[in-house]
Amino acid sequence: MNILTIDVEEWFQFFEDLDYGEKYKNYEVRIYENVDRILGLLEENDIKATFFVVGWVAKRYPDIVKRIAKDYEIGSHSMSHKLVSSLNRNEFYNEVNSSVSLIEDLTSKKVRAFRAPGFSIGKNELWAFEVLNDLGISIDSSFLPYNFRVNISKTYPCLIEYKGIKIKEFPINYKRVLSKGVIYSGGGYFRFFPYKLLNSWIKDSDYFLAYIHPRDLDSKQPLIKEISFNQKFRSYYGLRFSNSKFQKLIKDYKFIDIDSADMQIDWGKVDIIKLN
Ligand SMILES: [Zn+2]
Repeated sequence: MNILTIDVEEWFQFFEDLDYGEKYKNYEVRIYENVDRILGLLEENDIKATFFVVGWVAKRYPDIVKRIAKDYEIGSHSMSHKLVSSLNRNEFYNEVNSSVSLIEDLTSKKVRAFRAPGFSIGKNELWAFEVLNDLGISIDSSFLPYNFRVNISKTYPCLIEYKGIKIKEFPINYKRVLSKGVIYSGGGYFRFFPYKLLNSWIKDSDYFLAYIHPRDLDSKQPLIKEISFNQKFRSYYGLRFSNSKFQKLIKDYKFIDIDSADMQIDWGKVDIIKLN
């Protein structure tokens, strides 16, 4: 099962937790071009994807969200892309609630899937699952098993159980490299690893969940000079080849969205991860 997800953010939203309204208000708008590129490729290859939209984008560019929603499933990627670990429960509630209401108003469709910015739900933020449940979110895709120090036999959709709540979880793929968990299925990691290696890892698993940002395929985005070397590397490495790499990926593998995957999975037979 190969699932494609797109995290809809503007090209400069690779920082977590920053005030986009002020410092970055003079940056050029590239979201239309970047989302159009992805929609064009999906249409051309006749594949579906789930789009996790940041409310910040939905608020400023509602037509983009309406356009995506015509043909694709939309989930929430929070309102302003703050890491869950930087928020308290109430703040997280507001982040999710405002983005969900906004997207639902724009699309007239129920939002039931969520992805945390930076996959930032960890051991100390388990309350986030209660908040998601309260807000009618039944599917999460923020789970990095090594953040929770839980051992799972293989990366595959599972049920997260916390304080009597059950949430369907679509985890991110990772590999153990030198005893460290390394993500490889999206973003900077997708840009970094050579296709041959990615291909061998994808073939190795019967579940692959890719996550791509519109900016990952935008080789013409401006370079922000005032960021650290580390951040520059993470944000810009591999942009020259990522578009052709992505095109190869979607030709080589048949991708579906989370909604179709949800219908194919026998949820009575998946692992239940009990967190407490
Ligand atoms: Zn994100």
